[in-house]
Amino acid sequence: MIFINTYNAAPDYYLQSSAVDNLCEKFRFIRRFAIGKSLCGRKITALTIGNRKNPALYAAAFHGMEWLNTLFMLSFCEELALAYRNRSSADGVNVFTQLQKRGVTIIPCVNPDGVEIGLHGSESCPRYKKLIDSITSDTSSWQANARGVDLNHNFNAGWRELKKREMKSGITKPSATRYGGTRPFSEPETVALKNLCLKNRFSHVIAFHSQGREVYCTYGNTPERSVVLGETFAKLADYRVALPDKIAVGGGFKDWVIGYLRTPAITVETGLGKNPLPLGDYLPEYKRIRRALFKCLFV
Ligand SMILES: [Zn+2]
Repeated sequence: MIFINTYNAAPDYYLQSSAVDNLCEKFRFIRRFAIGKSLCGRKITALTIGNRKNPALYAAAFHGMEWLNTLFMLSFCEELALAYRNRSSADGVNVFTQLQKRGVTIIPCVNPDGVEIGLHGSESCPRYKKLIDSITSDTSSWQANARGVDLNHNFNAGWRELKKREMKSGITKPSATRYGGTRPFSEPETVALKNLCLKNRFSHVIAFHSQGREVYCTYGNTPERSVVLGETFAKLADYRVALPDKIAVGGGFKDWVIGYLRTPAITVETGLGKNPLPLGDYLPEYKRIRRALFKCLFV
């Protein structure tokens, strides 16, 4: 592995922003843009390297506790940028040549408010503090956005069926996890991702979650390339290809990308243990998945 910055703190909004500033200063060819803003006005940042036509999309931290994936995305972006600048290979992948054909867009954190609530409590979202406090006094396991909607239950893919399952499980109102909102795309974060995908024709999509060291690649009439992508990732990272729990079927970003856009997509559940995974898992797990991250850009 070539030398990269290592991170020794959880990536709250401030640390994320300064890490992205550093990356973009070091590598001027990285295109940085905001795909939208969270409920509390935090930018949802995207970084693109290479060809802007038909790139792959990697997106992470849909859930508040899953910020270790933000670090994976920042490290991966840095390794990719270094290889691109040096016109060198990484793990047998000729990054420069490949990225000129097909670039990548990386979103290190889809849910900046959720991560902030998990790390700094309800004070980090003053407008929604009352609501958050009414849901839980322990925000360390917060997964949703600032008004208690689980972003990965808010996409328009089997949303009604998912809603029925939520109700059966007793989830009927804003919650720290698994409440899908009053309608699909009711949240600015999911709308931002939807608009990005409608504007760009992504070659394929990987959504990063935690935990379980598992890969989910099916939704309804699944494109063959989705399965190839899932199997490739699983093989290289020594993860398992899995079928989701019933409540996790539908409503997710990967489901909408497959079901509506007919674009190959997978969900990767990184790491093993209890969320939030400890900071100490960052480097060992990154080393475990980095080969899969490189190779899956060009599947
Ligand atoms: Zn998740």
